[in-house]
Amino acid sequence: MTWLGACMLALALFPATASAAGYTQTKYPIVLVHGLFGFDNIGPVDYWYGIPSALRADGAKVYVAQVSAANSSEVRGEQLLTQVKQILAATGAAKVNLIGHSHGGPTIRYVASVRPDLVASATSVGGVNKGSSVADVLLGVAPPGSLSNTVIVSVTNGLATVINFLSGGSGLNQNSLAAAQSLSTAGSLKFNAAHPAGVPTTACGEGAYTARGVYYFSWSGAKSYTNVFDIMDPALALTSLAFGGAKNDGLVASCSTHLGRVIRDDYAMNHMDEVNQTVGLVNLFETNPVTLYRQHANRLRGLGL
Ligand code: CA
Repeated sequence: MTWLGACMLALALFPATASAAGYTQTKYPIVLVHGLFGFDNIGPVDYWYGIPSALRADGAKVYVAQVSAANSSEVRGEQLLTQVKQILAATGAAKVNLIGHSHGGPTIRYVASVRPDLVASATSVGGVNKGSSVADVLLGVAPPGSLSNTVIVSVTNGLATVINFLSGGSGLNQNSLAAAQSLSTAGSLKFNAAHPAGVPTTACGEGAYTARGVYYFSWSGAKSYTNVFDIMDPALALTSLAFGGAKNDGLVASCSTHLGRVIRDDYAMNHMDEVNQTVGLVNLFETNPVTLYRQHANRLRGLGL
């Protein structure tokens, strides 16, 4: 083998990536908190498709929380707080890094608000921090005249498909109304008044980067249809009509996802791509969602969190 051939073989065996040992090794454990429904059928671990293993590969300690699939932000938040205390007891860590997707955003914010001493950082991915027009449509409280009946029917049909998929066909459960109220614009504003940390005070700006010792971050996608092979995409294209042209990921407006430091709010990803669903069917022309979580772990590591 020539010297050049040996070099090329070495390059093939050890591809140059950002995955140096310790790249994702945060000081505090990372806790992933799922959103609405949270895949009753396949469980909360698979909800974060391929993400825990990718974070663990270079040193992060990762826990996947399981809270009520559909309930209010406060009920889910109390459930998460109990699990955070268990994780701290099991690991001996002083704090956790919370990452929440969708309704997981308000859920982690609740814990950071009531027990900031236990939380190093709170990161919201596609978080419903200022409500979702889709929840407003579901509750029949979309501003009168803001959407045509045709659009409302399309949104409702799209949402039914999404809910059926996420809940394994079991449909809305008994606490779905509490969830929808939490995720509505009015419900979110009420929640924010009680738990304001990190929430932007302007319509679409950034929030405080730190509050009461907790670092706040967010990112989201802004494209509803990203992969022709993903059966969720046509449904998300329908629900995205609820936003009347405002930038959104199919279920949440980009501006509503803002929390603390906004890393980016316009990745070419939809709401499910943000957690690498369905089973890794994401936009091939955008940064892989799993990479964003690894980069964020490295960001937290850099801050000593
Ligand atoms: Ca997808």
